[in-house]
Formats: sequence, structure tokens, C-alpha cells
Amino acid sequence: MPIKPVHGGDPMPLESPDDVATLVGHLERRDREPAWLGDHFSYLAGTRPDWFRPFQETVIAGNHLPFWEVVYNDACVLLAGASDRCVETLAGRLRDRWSHYDMWALAAIGTDAARVVIADLVRAGGDRQDLEDSGIWVPPTGPAEYRFTSQRRAVVLEPGDFPGADNPVGLPVERIVRDPATTPVVWHYASFRLGQIPGLPPFPAERAHLVAPASACLWTVFADIGADGRYLGEEVRFESGDDDPDEDYADDAPGFGVGRVVLRPYGPDLIYSNGNVHSSPGVVGTAGGPPIGLYPNPSCPSCKRLMFHALTVETYIREHGDGFRSLYLCEDCHKVASTATGWN
Ligand SMILES: [Zn+2]
Repeated sequence: MPIKPVHGGDPMPLESPDDVATLVGHLERRDREPAWLGDHFSYLAGTRPDWFRPFQETVIAGNHLPFWEVVYNDACVLLAGASDRCVETLAGRLRDRWSHYDMWALAAIGTDAARVVIADLVRAGGDRQDLEDSGIWVPPTGPAEYRFTSQRRAVVLEPGDFPGADNPVGLPVERIVRDPATTPVVWHYASFRLGQIPGLPPFPAERAHLVAPASACLWTVFADIGADGRYLGEEVRFESGDDDPDEDYADDAPGFGVGRVVLRPYGPDLIYSNGNVHSSPGVVGTAGGPPIGLYPNPSCPSCKRLMFHALTVETYIREHGDGFRSLYLCEDCHKVASTATGWN
């Protein structure tokens, strides 16, 4: 069974719309552990989100959101395109009283109606930072903009020697930066062929590189990308001041951990556990989907717009530091950002 609940006992089958009705019944009666329910909804998001559609209104209007232990990236699939009536219900409640759950659900719906309401609420004093952490940008005028795609691919690591791989892991730094003598980049996690991640904005480079400086603290590496696909003008910003930026991982061996990643659609062949698919063999992250939501996301250093989240992987992809590594794009300024955050 691809559902492995950490709490609450054996999984139940989800093989038909009737099974989904049974699952929603458990949510309504609160007779199963929330985390057990969450792993089932996570499986549904990865396999048959269409079966959940008839229950979008039940979960929203019935005020089950505080008990619906579903992570944001699954919610963005399950609540996508919910009716304008759902949007109005949430907007009405939010105008009366601010609620993280209601705002989160509204953000997950993502329709034109939801974008207008989100922009109005933020301009009326709603929590802009919370939304930006979730990958949603409210420009000075107009509706909210989604700086991520809800279409997800599992990032699967395959160690070994793969010359000419689409998504290589562990390239020499001189292959990915134009000026190796002056670059602050010392480590290449992986390069990703952007065309394999559906829903990304058009970008002039075929691939973007997830890279790291020689530092143990939390950082962001901004770079421009040249016509040859290499980075130039790399600039590191440190997010936490308490670590010595020179205390580094620079002695990690350059030949260590080479391989490639393959991007695979979500489906019943993954393992859904603890709100993610990372216990599936080889899976080290997710391409597409929203950012983690617990950390600030980078704004483009040129135009200041919130950057577009392309993917997030664990450092298991090629060990250097500890935590999550994410890749962001500004499609207007042709900038790329690699970021480091801790485990959540
Ligand atoms: Zn920009």
C-alpha cells in the first residue's frame, strides 16, 4: 500500500469515489487521527485529485479546515479551482476575523476570483509576508500572482556516471559558472532542464543550476545566466549572522555523489507518508509545487518581484550542508536564486 501513516494505524483503501466519501466522513466525525487522514489526502492529491472535487465545498463550508491536516502543496492540488461560492465563504469569514486556515485555503484555490480576493485582503492589511512565504505575490495593483506552479514532479536521484544527462548531479564548478577563479560557488548539487517542469514561466536558459557557496549558514546565491547556460555575476547573501561564513564545507570531495535526477509524475507508485513522498526510494525532493512556506522566499534583486519557485530538494541529493535547497527564477530579469534553509 503506497500510504504509510506514521500515526493512527493501517491505511484504508482509496480505490473509488465511494472510498473518498468514507474518508471525508472520518474527517467530518473526527474519528481518526488527523495525521492519518492527512496521509490519505496526500495520496489522493498525488493520484486522483478529481475524486476529491465534489468535497471541496464540504471541507471549506463545513469549517473542517483546522482539522484537515493536509500540507500546503497537497492542498494546492486538492482545492485547486474550487467554486466561487467557496471563495466567497472564505472571503466573508476572513473579513469578519483573520484566520490562517481560511487564508491558506483561499491561497490553495488559486482561481481568478481567489486572486482578486487575496489582493484586496492584503491591501486591507492582511499578512503579506505569510502569503509571500507561500509563494504568492501581491503587486501594487491587480490580482495576486502565483509564483509557483501546482503541477508537481518527484525528483528521483540516480547515483552513477551519466554523461550527457538531462539533469546532471555533481558537475565541476567550471562547467556551470563563467568565471571559476572569482566565483563564490564551490558546490554543484544539480542542474535541471526547465522544460521538464510543467507550468514554469518561459525562461531563456535550457537549464538552471542549484549551487552552494562554502558556508554552513543559511544563504541565497543570486546569479545571472548567460547565453552559454553558465552563471555570471554570482552574489551570496547570508540569511543568518551567527555562523562564520568562512567555516565551510569546501573540503567536500568534488567527485563525491555524482549522478543524475529524473523527474517523475506523482502517482500510485510513490509512498505517501508524514505529508510527503520523500520516503519513496530515490526521491529527494519535488519540482514544481509551492515553496515550503516556513521561510521567506527571495525577491528578485533587480525588479524586487517575488521570484518564481522552481523546485525544492533535500541536501541528500548531494550532501553539502544540511536541510532544504530551493531554486527560484525571475523570468523578466533572467535571474536565478539558489537558497539554503534548515530542516523544518
Ligand atoms: Zn526580476
